[in-house]
Amino acid sequence: MNEPGIVHLVGAGPGDPGLLTLRGLECLQEAEVVVYDHLANPGLLAHAPPDAQFIYVGKKAGAHTLDQEAINALVVEHGLAGRRVVRLKGGDPFVFGRGGEEAIALREAGVPFDVVPGITAGVAAAAYAGIPVTHRGFNSVLTFVTGHEDPEKDESAVDWGALARGGGTLLFYMGVRNLPGIARRLIAGGRSPDTPVALIRHGTRPIQEFVEGTLADIAERAASVGMKPPAITVIGDVVNLRRKLRWFDTKPLFGRTVVVTRSRTQASALARGLALLGAHVLQFPTISIQAPEDPGALTKALGDLDGVDWLVFTSVNVVARVFDALTGAGLDARALAGCSIATVGSATTDALAAHGVRADLVPPRATSKDLFETLSSQFDLRGKRFLLPRADIAPPDFPESLREAGAEVIEVIAYRTVRSSPEPSVLEALREHAVDIVTFTSSSTARNFAAIVRQELGDIPTDVRYASIGPNTSRTAEAEGMTVWTEAKDPTIAGLIAALVAQTESGSL
Ligand code: SAH
Repeated sequence: MNEPGIVHLVGAGPGDPGLLTLRGLECLQEAEVVVYDHLANPGLLAHAPPDAQFIYVGKKAGAHTLDQEAINALVVEHGLAGRRVVRLKGGDPFVFGRGGEEAIALREAGVPFDVVPGITAGVAAAAYAGIPVTHRGFNSVLTFVTGHEDPEKDESAVDWGALARGGGTLLFYMGVRNLPGIARRLIAGGRSPDTPVALIRHGTRPIQEFVEGTLADIAERAASVGMKPPAITVIGDVVNLRRKLRWFDTKPLFGRTVVVTRSRTQASALARGLALLGAHVLQFPTISIQAPEDPGALTKALGDLDGVDWLVFTSVNVVARVFDALTGAGLDARALAGCSIATVGSATTDALAAHGVRADLVPPRATSKDLFETLSSQFDLRGKRFLLPRADIAPPDFPESLREAGAEVIEVIAYRTVRSSPEPSVLEALREHAVDIVTFTSSSTARNFAAIVRQELGDIPTDVRYASIGPNTSRTAEAEGMTVWTEAKDPTIAGLIAALVAQTESGSL
């Protein structure tokens, strides 16, 4: 028989993927099996090794995928089989999460477990709505209540009278369906009908919704906007602090759905930057970076740098490929010592610096046209030899300009960009007009996006705004039939984000 493994009962936090604990992250990074719930942000699964086994156990209200006993049996089974299991649960595992039941089942089966607390939704959703659940002078009691149970039932496990009289802030979980009954019982028990109440749905996420009222009218207000679970109900005077402390749903891109079209490995800086400004980011990987058909060509070119005057890095991918090739050949950065080095863009320059190599020349703007102008204004290019490792689909302008100026150019294909297919949910969002902005960070992403949506949706969406990183990309987008809504002044990720924000704030969205 196997040695038993271990089960980590991990709180996934309330939804914002940044609200996972460091210990939770560690457990995920080492997981062999991840058993996750409906309320755990599926984006967190990306922290687990890609070859881990992912098991969804659902638990949407009323539509359980597996019942609790089956979930208990499942974690026990994987634990007994000797695996490292992460049981990922929304919020905190021991706050209305039935984590205790799973822990008991594990203990009884002799499977080691530990608990990684998470940020519970009640506290976090309130905080993201600008409501501190306790505040000096307002309340000295904070009560967590499940609103799952029908308050109109005769035998209630909740002492409504005590809750009503007890004062302080009440945080109701799972209370949307029973909201009318909850409000009625609290008023009947003596709470003032004027007590402020807030409902926060999908708290901490860019799709957070908020409804406010009083005990007297909240049920009607929530119904009139069609409020649905999952939502937290906050009851008490602290709700009024939102007027002063609102901070999250006022972010410049809050509530906007923005599609990021890049190869997935490159998408993170843009996606993260947009998310920090409140955007709901959907990844639409249009290209994936793959090895060239002749991987030996780059190694060969790098092995023969003697007569090369300039080595040019036009993207982060080129940097990665060149150093992969050097490492593969048993070499390192010293092999580049004899050439001058030019880069385009701060990301490329930084990637190179991470390998200990400082660029000799970086044009003020991140375009190959600026690179050529800077080079030709500072140097006589006649007879100079350039090595240009690049993408298979890179445009020919730059090497042509160099040749016209009398330089010799060796072009080597360092990587291929291959069209990849987006997740169905993103196509669905485009189809359902649920996308506000689509971003393009290169001509190839614009071209590939157009090709994919034409194939999958029949046409180019006309109800979204297209944002482009620079003039070349804009030209490609326009040529593909997409009207460019905004173009970055500075052709960088930061510039693109700034353009989006400026345009959104100018009211054109
Ligand atoms: N263990 C979880 C709670 C699970 S009970 C925790 O500690 O947060 C499920 C209820 O949690 C939902 O019905 C809803 O009331 C609340 N909830 C979970 N995530 C939420 C979110 N992002 N926003 C608002 N409420 C949420």
